Order: sequence, then structure tokens, then C-alpha cells
Amino acid sequence: MARRKKIYEGKAKILYEGPEPGTIVQYFKDDATAFNAEKKDVIDGKGVLNNRLSEYFMTGLNQIGVPTHFIRRLNMREQLVRNCEIVPLEIIVRNYAAGSLSKRLGIAEGTQLPRPIIEYCYKDDALGDPLVSEEHIAAFGWASQQDMDDILSLALRVNDFMSGVMLAVGIRLVDFKIEIGRVFEGDFQRLIVADEISPDSCRLWDIETGQKLDKDVFRRDLGNLADAYSEVARRLGVLPKSNVAKPTLIN
Ligand code: UDP
Repeated sequence: MARRKKIYEGKAKILYEGPEPGTIVQYFKDDATAFNAEKKDVIDGKGVLNNRLSEYFMTGLNQIGVPTHFIRRLNMREQLVRNCEIVPLEIIVRNYAAGSLSKRLGIAEGTQLPRPIIEYCYKDDALGDPLVSEEHIAAFGWASQQDMDDILSLALRVNDFMSGVMLAVGIRLVDFKIEIGRVFEGDFQRLIVADEISPDSCRLWDIETGQKLDKDVFRRDLGNLADAYSEVARRLGVLPKSNVAKPTLIN
């Protein structure tokens, strides 16, 4: 069998050429990294859980008319997605203060924000993904004004959807990061939600106890990361019950 072509290997995923033009296979690794890859580990079962969880969120978004790159899950670790040109920005949406916002502005973690706050970071690992303003984005041509309007509207719709889905299972969506892709349809371009949506890219806190169920468990050495992600998957009904304790066995 011909070996498929690897297009890109990132910190948590590998992208392979897809079976049809315009498609890509996204493979979820077990690797966990934080602080721009200064902290690294392999967490058994993380890739399987994130593949399932990202499928769950992207499918829901597609169903409510928020376009995403997700086509279908292929197996335990892989999903078929639309090939798109990634806008070189990380779009961060915050509902409660945490992480870098708390540090930068001296606001206690967990403080509810008066309204969702959107931030943009320029995607560049060598620079540590610096925070940028819309002025930078326009001046350097990373996205047009129309793109920025569309990105804001997509980000707020994802926030409402994700906040609601999480609230229903007793979890607070503190903040999250998404990436946006450009697809071309004839003479038109469209922006869609790309990359992944998983506990790697969200802050998720139990509403009752405040327990962290996201990558901060790894960043801050708070326990077993796969257990935290399994708990999110269990609450959402994403894992078959018998496999809850053994995420690596799910198909
Ligand atoms: N985030 C991410 N990838 C990044 C940076 C941030 O997925 O490269 C997510 C992070 O998990 C959190 C949100 O974006 O849910 C806001 O992160 P923050 O700016 O507070 O950065 P951090 O404290 O993680 O450095």
C-alpha cells in the first residue's frame, strides 16, 4: 500500500494528504506540550479523547449552521477535514478571567467578565504567539476588515454554543482558542472553524467545585490529564460507558 504523504506535524496533531482533493486527514497524537513546548509529556489516550471531543463539538456547530472544516471521523485517532488556508491568528474568547489575561491585567482568575472578550494572537511559535491588535492584523494584511467581521461573528457563535453545551453538563466555559480557515468556492472565499476544539484549547471548570478539566491540569501539575478529559467526555455522553476508565480502548 502506498505510504500517505505527511503535510505537517505540529505539537498535538499530524496532517496527512486526504483521499480526495481538498481533504486532509487530521491525526491526534498523545503528546502534550505547554509553555511553547518547554514542558512536554505523552499522555496515554489524550489523542483518542480529543479526536472524539473535537468531532462532537464540530458536528454540533455544523448542525447549527456554523461552518467548520470537519467532515467525518475515520477511526480512533483520525478525522477527515476540509483542506483550508489557516488564517495566521489564534482567536481567543474569554468569559471569565484566567491565564494570561489574569497575569497581564492583574484580574483574579475566575472573575466573570462584563462581556465576552476577544483577543488575537499572531501564530508564530518562534515569537511565542504574541498578542496583536486589529491594527496589526490590518497593517500586515493577515486578514481583511471583512474577514475580521466574519471571524468575530464566528467566534461569538462558537462561544454561545460551547457555553451552552458545557453548562448543560455542569461545566463552565472559562475561555477557549479557535483557528479559522479560508476555503475557496468558485470566485468566493468563506471562513470556517478549523483545527480542533478540545480540552487542549479550552478552559473548563466544574461549576460546583471549580475543578479544572482542561490542559491546565497538565500545565500546573494538578493530576492526570486523561482522567480530566475522560470526565468531560463522560458527561457529554461521548464515551461509551464501559470504556470510561480506559480511553485508549475506545473505537
Ligand atoms: N490557548 C491555546 N493555544 C495557545 C494559547 C492559548 O489553545 O497557543 C487557549 C488556552 O488553552 C486557553 C485560552 O486559549 O483556553 C486562553 O489562553 P491564555 O491566553 O490564557 O494563555 P495561557 O495562560 O494558556 O498561556
